[in-house]
Amino acid sequence: MLRRVYGFDSFRGQQQEIIEHVCAGGDAVALMPTGSGKSLCYQIPAQVREGTGVVISPLIALMQDQVDALNVLGVKAGFLNSTQDPDSRRGVEYAFMDGKLDLLYLAPERLRTESALRLLDRGTISLFAIDEAHCVAQWGHDFRPDYLGLSVLHERWPAVPRIAVTATATEQTRAEIVARLSLSGARQFVASFDRPNIQYRIEPKNEPRRQLLRLLRTEHPGEAGIVYCLSRASVEKTADFLCSEGLTALPYHAGLDPQTRSVNQSRFLREDGLIMVATIAFGMGIDKPDVRFVAHLDLPRSVEGYYQETGRAGRDGLPATAWLAYGLADVVQQRRMIDDSEGDLAHRRRLVAHLDAMLALCETAGCRRQQMLAYFGETGTGPCGNCDTCLSPPSVWDGTVAAQKLLSTVVRLGRLGGPAFGAGQPIDILLGKKTPRVLSYGHDSLSTFGIGGELTEGEWRGVVRQLLASGLLAVSGDHGTLALTDLSGEVMRGERPVVFRRDPPKVPAPPRSRRASAGSGAGAGSGAAAGRPAAADLPPEAEPVFERLRAWRTSVAKELGMPPYVIFHDSTLRLIAASPPSTLDELRQVNGVGATKLDKYGQAILAVLAEDGAS
Ligand code: ADP
Ligand code: ZN
Repeated sequence: MLRRVYGFDSFRGQQQEIIEHVCAGGDAVALMPTGSGKSLCYQIPAQVREGTGVVISPLIALMQDQVDALNVLGVKAGFLNSTQDPDSRRGVEYAFMDGKLDLLYLAPERLRTESALRLLDRGTISLFAIDEAHCVAQWGHDFRPDYLGLSVLHERWPAVPRIAVTATATEQTRAEIVARLSLSGARQFVASFDRPNIQYRIEPKNEPRRQLLRLLRTEHPGEAGIVYCLSRASVEKTADFLCSEGLTALPYHAGLDPQTRSVNQSRFLREDGLIMVATIAFGMGIDKPDVRFVAHLDLPRSVEGYYQETGRAGRDGLPATAWLAYGLADVVQQRRMIDDSEGDLAHRRRLVAHLDAMLALCETAGCRRQQMLAYFGETGTGPCGNCDTCLSPPSVWDGTVAAQKLLSTVVRLGRLGGPAFGAGQPIDILLGKKTPRVLSYGHDSLSTFGIGGELTEGEWRGVVRQLLASGLLAVSGDHGTLALTDLSGEVMRGERPVVFRRDPPKVPAPPRSRRASAGSGAGAGSGAAAGRPAAADLPPEAEPVFERLRAWRTSVAKELGMPPYVIFHDSTLRLIAASPPSTLDELRQVNGVGATKLDKYGQAILAVLAEDGAS
């Protein structure tokens, strides 16, 4: 089936084990990173076993695309959700009852209705697949209340095997999935969460938009990517800014009307080289293979969230960038948001723990990937060689004295009472600046006035940021006033040494060899630290053939209203261009060409190739 339907030569990772286990009727929990091929793990058993595989998915806006992609493969699939008109719904329901569907996609909220449950009773179910299973985790970043009702599946159909899949990796989330979905008897499959082709980079935020623009212009011109912002307003502003700089950027956030959201998402999937500027409302389930970068202009709230969002880059296995700009204001803002958040103390503690882990990742002088994998319980890996700290290791310095100077200034300001000050005032005091604000409050007479000339203002901000990040300093009140923590005293008394990371003076030059030509994705940079080679590098004479095949694919996709990668992946077209087949039988051998696609498109591809020979 792998060869015939999908045209693939071999299974990846644990796919075969999982598939055999589920085909034999076993329950499974599969935790595998984005792009590792989770869908095959339930799609193949759904076709092998008798009846219809019912897939529970929260991704209503993507169901049509998912079903279209299966139909192109010759797999009979349908979906039922609230966006459908009654006629097509009835069509799908009858097809299911008649046993004509291999796969049926359902939104979880439908299972709360008795009519949907009765419908499922009237067909034969081969398995239940619970996609994006981490949505059941109440403290996770994508919680969907409807997922809590999914235990009904097991109660009502105890004999039907269930497979829960997710790309979320923490031990805690896994435990919640098992508990809430009654999957304690299920076999667990946990893959490595490393995504070696993604280069992780975190840099200090100075002029975020300029920094972003530099990244896009110098490293990813004409390429598709996602820019994440925290607020709707900053999404709009950033998208406008990028457009005013001549780039094609679209906004996406929960405040836009559904129609605009769906048009923007669809354009991102279907057109080349678009930049989506979005809040975290965007991205789950997006299977566009050639997202070349994910940029964060604001600090993510947790390592899980950061990993999920950056994981949307480079599903095709080719080099991709995960870039984050992060600064003092981010720490202050997030700490305050937690203070202001609703919920009990336990809830706030959890938010703090998540943020602290994220901050530790930002401030580490060690390998980012190593630290992230360790957070997910994968220890024992060495430095990766493909993150900013590996590529240009930051130096560290003994910051004990600097920390003491800053903390004592904060103490003295606090004793004076008076209005609230952010980080600016203590820094001005340390630098001995006689600003109007310093003079009007008499802060030039503090004993710490002017004792911090050894560092620049930027370096002092780095000190404040790192003290905040490590909990040696806190923010309180509405104005981001700096305040001491339980640990501050130890630093001031010299009982706790402090080591700081020296911020790089400027952005390091792009450290890897990038592809020569921008845009279209032709020719991946060879020798880059990519994982599996998703596509062969093209010899120069094959490039025009590849471009011709892409043009053909674009026109077919347009006609069908589907994303081009649903017809064929770039990697498949590249293989065809590299050694053009002259018969259908030869074409059948190419990875990614299954039987149905061969029937539908084989002749057309041979014609495109022949056209090349004639010209
Ligand atoms: P996930 O859901 O884990 O993010 P998908 O199931 O969407 O990943 O698969 C990612 C891509 O890899 C898809 O384009 C899929 O067709 C491809 N793929 C999956 N399994 C294989 C395989 N065994 N060989 C080649 N390509 C595969
Ligand atoms: Zn590294």
